[in-house]
Amino acid sequence: MVRICRNRWKPDTCGCDVEFEFDDDLDIATRPNKLVRVYKACPAHPDLADYIGRTWVQEATVPFHQENQRKNRALEEMGTRLGIPEDENYFNNLQKYINGWHFDANRVLHISTKGLTVNQRNQVKSAVDTRFGNGKVMIE
Ligand SMILES: [Zn+2]
Repeated sequence: MVRICRNRWKPDTCGCDVEFEFDDDLDIATRPNKLVRVYKACPAHPDLADYIGRTWVQEATVPFHQENQRKNRALEEMGTRLGIPEDENYFNNLQKYINGWHFDANRVLHISTKGLTVNQRNQVKSAVDTRFGNGKVMIE
């Protein structure tokens, strides 16, 4: 079956505001998303309208989505390295170690942590370097 839906999305990683289209009967992890409308392109992604009509999956090539995924996955790596159980308290437990995060002008993700030992911080840094490449995510 095919059930085309549209969803408006404002990522929590930048100021973009878009609408995309997808087949709701497909698996969320692998279904293609098609950018159909740009309500607002933030200063970091001024060429977002160039992506209208393109499709992508979760491993996104569209910059604003790719950054959002990098943030989510970097936090996942952090949870894994800290051994936080994946139960209903996962996000609350993870939040205890996070002061905040932001992307700088070069779109490098900075995650400000709290309560981590030097060893834990190094483990998380090593994990995100392996996953995203050196210099893409800073653990501070
Ligand atoms: Zn943006």
